[in-house]
Amino acid sequence: MQSYDSDRMVSLLEPFGYSPSDDIETANLVILNTCHIREKAEHKIFSELGRLRENKVEQEAKGEEYIIAVGGCVAQAQGDEITKQAPYVSIVFGPQNYHKLPEYLIHVLREQNKHHVDVEFPVESKFDHLPSVSETKAASFLTIQEGCNKFCHFCVVPYTRGAEYSRPVKALIDEAKHLVSVGAKEITLLGQNVNAYHGEGPNGRIWSLAELIEELALIDGLERIRYMTSHPRDMTDHLIECHGKVSKLMPFLHLPVQSGSDKILKAMNRRHNAELYYDIIRKVKEQRPDIVVSSDFIVGYPGEATEDHNLTLQLVQDCVDFGFSFNYSPRPGTPASVMPQIDDDIKMERLYELQALLQMKQLMAHQKQIGLMNEVLVEKEGKEPGQLIGKNAHWQSVVLEGDASLIGIIVPVKIKEAHQNSLSGILI
Ligand code: SAH
Ligand code: SF4
Repeated sequence: MQSYDSDRMVSLLEPFGYSPSDDIETANLVILNTCHIREKAEHKIFSELGRLRENKVEQEAKGEEYIIAVGGCVAQAQGDEITKQAPYVSIVFGPQNYHKLPEYLIHVLREQNKHHVDVEFPVESKFDHLPSVSETKAASFLTIQEGCNKFCHFCVVPYTRGAEYSRPVKALIDEAKHLVSVGAKEITLLGQNVNAYHGEGPNGRIWSLAELIEELALIDGLERIRYMTSHPRDMTDHLIECHGKVSKLMPFLHLPVQSGSDKILKAMNRRHNAELYYDIIRKVKEQRPDIVVSSDFIVGYPGEATEDHNLTLQLVQDCVDFGFSFNYSPRPGTPASVMPQIDDDIKMERLYELQALLQMKQLMAHQKQIGLMNEVLVEKEGKEPGQLIGKNAHWQSVVLEGDASLIGIIVPVKIKEAHQNSLSGILI
């Protein structure tokens, strides 16, 4: 979502003469669009700010402008604290305020040395104020929902992105058509809780994610639809059926479970048990037997015993093809952060064990593709000359040889080899 938001910031600033730069040392404006989900992400920002300060001193000594802005979820959570610790930061703005970026910038340019901190949750929707992008990648994002009302005990999202909000159906159909007209072949529908989507339809009735997907599938030129990130409690039968019926909905599902232990799921306030997860995966596979399933896991949550961890390993064995795993990171203001914590050594040991299993499962999922024809949406050039990289329908990376003119096109590729993080094959 930060990537989607960053692209919107670029379109907002283009009319003011700004354009994206590859050179952070000589840029005139640097915006850090930050993530607050784990402590590590937050620490990175302060070390990055230290480096930016040096650039600022150097550039300003040459008479050049160098404005530093911090946006996103750390900005939302820390507000004034950022300008106290790093007074050379001129603008601090939350994820619901970035449509006002040009306004902040004008203030900073007019009143030198003044800070602008805005971490309110505005009543108006920022989406009503965002201009359309003038070009887009073949695989594009579309935010359809933001925020969360679920309040899992480890998570800061409800505090940084705010309450659940779903964009109206018409605005989404219009934006999707526009994205297709400027180059998108694939759209990933985004939300912190994307399958809790409940947007207002054209006739005032509330639409579900399943209905929205069925409508988007009618758009000519849009070839692939994905959605991310979903919650087990919101996997309705209708949405599960879409995986069998809507051919543009890709055979890939990212469905975070966090733990395979009911005791830990309860302590996390996830309000679902492991059985529900097993049931959903079974039903989805009935609809789409070749679907690839990924998940997120938190290791070392307060109270997690060896048997809880073993249940997570079992769930990975049974349900998941690959996954993202994290050591539990206590977040300020969340209930789990004040509970007795698990030893770091134990956390690391469990994380390594889980990651080894996840890697094995990922390699196995890749091996299943050997000898098959994959439709690959070519996204970019690879590191070696003549190499291209794209994604197959299952969201797996595929490396092939071919001309750069294929970027943005879906091509047939015969898979020859499976690696840990990618597949390689021959363009047919
Ligand atoms: N809405 C999604 C998750 C969004 S956060 C869901 O409900 O599953 C993305 C991922 O970050 C989570 O799935 C979780 O695995 C991880 N995460 C969130 N808070 C965390 C924390 N305090 N410590 C470690 N990982 C965390
Ligand atoms: Fe965070 Fe997801 Fe739980 Fe919401 S449902 S609180 S976003 S982990």
